Amino acid sequence: MSSLPRSVKTLIVGATLLGLGCVAIRVPEILRWNAQDLLAVALIAALTITAERCSIPLRRGSETVNFALTDGVWAGALLLVAPGILTVAVLLGVGLGQAINRWKPYKIAFNVSQFLIGITIAEIAFGVLDIWGDGPTDPARWLAGLAAMFLMFVVNATAISLVISRMEGTRFLDVFRISLAVNVLHWLGNMALGILGAISWAIQPAGLILMLAPVSLAYVTYRRWVASILERDQMRDLYEAGRTLAGPIASTEDFGDFLGLMEKLLPADRVELVVVEEGMVAVHASGGVRHLTIDDTDADPLEAIVTVRSGLAPQISLVGDGSEVRGVLAVYRSQVLTANERLLLDGLAGQVAARLRNHRVYGKTLERARLAEIVTHTSDGVFTVDQYGRIATWNPAMTALLGYEEDEAIGHRCDDLLGLERIAALTDGDAGDGESGDAIVRTRDGDSKAIRLRTSAIQDDEDAPPARIVVVRDAGEERKAEQIKRDFVSMVSHELRSPLTPLRGFLVSLVEGTVDDDPLKRQEYYQIMLRQAQRLERTVNDMLDASLIEAGGLVVDLQPVPLDHVLGRIVREFREQHPNRPVLLKEIDPAIVFADPFRVEQVVLNLLSNADKYTPERLPIDVRATLGEGSVTISVRDQGPGIPAEHRHLIFDRFYRVKDGPSRPGTGLGLYIARTLVEAMSGRIWVDSEVDEGATFSFTLQTVDADRAPAVKLDEVPDTAESLLIRMP
Ligand code: ADP
Repeated sequence: MSSLPRSVKTLIVGATLLGLGCVAIRVPEILRWNAQDLLAVALIAALTITAERCSIPLRRGSETVNFALTDGVWAGALLLVAPGILTVAVLLGVGLGQAINRWKPYKIAFNVSQFLIGITIAEIAFGVLDIWGDGPTDPARWLAGLAAMFLMFVVNATAISLVISRMEGTRFLDVFRISLAVNVLHWLGNMALGILGAISWAIQPAGLILMLAPVSLAYVTYRRWVASILERDQMRDLYEAGRTLAGPIASTEDFGDFLGLMEKLLPADRVELVVVEEGMVAVHASGGVRHLTIDDTDADPLEAIVTVRSGLAPQISLVGDGSEVRGVLAVYRSQVLTANERLLLDGLAGQVAARLRNHRVYGKTLERARLAEIVTHTSDGVFTVDQYGRIATWNPAMTALLGYEEDEAIGHRCDDLLGLERIAALTDGDAGDGESGDAIVRTRDGDSKAIRLRTSAIQDDEDAPPARIVVVRDAGEERKAEQIKRDFVSMVSHELRSPLTPLRGFLVSLVEGTVDDDPLKRQEYYQIMLRQAQRLERTVNDMLDASLIEAGGLVVDLQPVPLDHVLGRIVREFREQHPNRPVLLKEIDPAIVFADPFRVEQVVLNLLSNADKYTPERLPIDVRATLGEGSVTISVRDQGPGIPAEHRHLIFDRFYRVKDGPSRPGTGLGLYIARTLVEAMSGRIWVDSEVDEGATFSFTLQTVDADRAPAVKLDEVPDTAESLLIRMP
């Protein structure tokens, strides 16, 4: 009772006190009773208990409507006996009846009291109204009894609705209205029976035995009617339960609705579905799902996960055959399941198992689809081989690698098609889990190709035949990449170290004073040191630029630039640094280009340095700028060894150097950076060359319409508001 709301407690205590009052006012009367009165009390109490015990409950949702003959017994008694007798009979009948049913004491107290209050009101009303009635056979008395009992009906219905609405927090009228019509009809039937009983008792008590027949018939009919309603509800719930299990499968399963219906169907306080999969336990209930982790699913029997609740025995049914999907369906209720309910539970457990199995298949299909998507787009060649060594899947990268289209490869044994005996042999027997290594395979053109492969066994279903997945890479390409990496490391260390050696040598000589005092000689040393420092600076800058390009962080600042002026300045400075190299400015068309002046200088300087580096001394280098339609072409022409045709399209790639050409210091980054910069300024770069006839490197820059170009002051970086920053992709 301590868990009840305060207002309900007050109601119960108040009703009990009133009930006691109703008995108290009858005490003087009770003191005058004779043996006959006591017998009457015992008889009415016994009939009350019998009527209560034969009541037929009809559960509708959370409501239970009880059909009993109790108030019929009281209506008859009201017409026949003195008020005190009926009061005490109600007290004993209801109290004992409910005690036998093991109701909680506070419930008994409340129920007994509200009936005592009701019957006392009825008795008082009957006393007032029954002034014309002449014995129980007089219709005037019947009417008085009917009106009195109606008051009791209203009092009882009000009291019960009040408690329920307080307990559930719902509106009083909503509770009062539930089943009102059925209750009124039932009450009318009871009243008629009660009055008939009273008449029969007054005229011929043996007639009561005759009444047993229609009462029993009504009882049986009631039971049938209630059973059919229950059955209909059950069928509907069963249908609904089946329907929730047959609905579309979602990625996360929700059994809430299904379990809610099962609770209604059985009926049970709670139904749980416990599913164990890969160390995870999901406990589904009508209110939602809870996830638990257990260390070792095999150590504990499934039943151990089912919660034990006081007073409720979990009755379980296994879900699945124990090997595929492990789970239990647990029903919590105090009564043992009937044979039919057990059948129903087992049947539904079977359906749940099928549902879980479907869900698992669905998950796998989804997983496979995602995997297939990844495999299709991977740059590695991937194919799978079945247990007989036949190719089962073939991804686009395999086609790119070996030339066979998917439909040309699938179904063929991989030893027949590719000459891969090893893989075919592996799948025949038990050949360990995976292996990796190099192999030579046949391409579609009939050539041989070196590949590097890695295999691993796949078995996504326990009873699926073993298969193998093979991941393939072009060994030649891999070796080339590794070689490039090795070359780069040795090139970088060489490029960084070689200028440092003379620098350090001259510095040591200067510090130790072993250098001639001749100022001209010293000047020469300083010149050499400066050149080496510049070379070091260039190498470091190139590497920084290249890594910036790779990281997508290189920025060009586009603005209108007077090209002829910029070229003039670059050439002038270059000549100063390379006094022995004639650099001729030929045909420089004046133009304003939309470019980054510092990056233009970087590109031109790089081309001039290459021309100087690869051309024998004293041979001239020509620089040109020719105006075209919307663009200007800048060319740097030398008379060096030229570039063989097979290298011409490669020299703009990162780290690419012509190995069989003249050996000069360098990183293979200069032209790569030049190309990236020119392209960032919306230009194009290329080379024209013949072996032994020199090379002409050209690139284009977009021109700005002279009329529309803002006035550009020579030798000044123009207003940055006109400039456009472009971040390299
Ligand atoms: P490097 O640091 O090697 O000069 P670059 O990217 O500037 O790197 O040039 C790539 C390659 O192109 C060089 O290694 C060289 O073989 C060739 N090359 C570049 N410019 C010339 C040129 N003017 N004459 C002949 N070969 C050249």
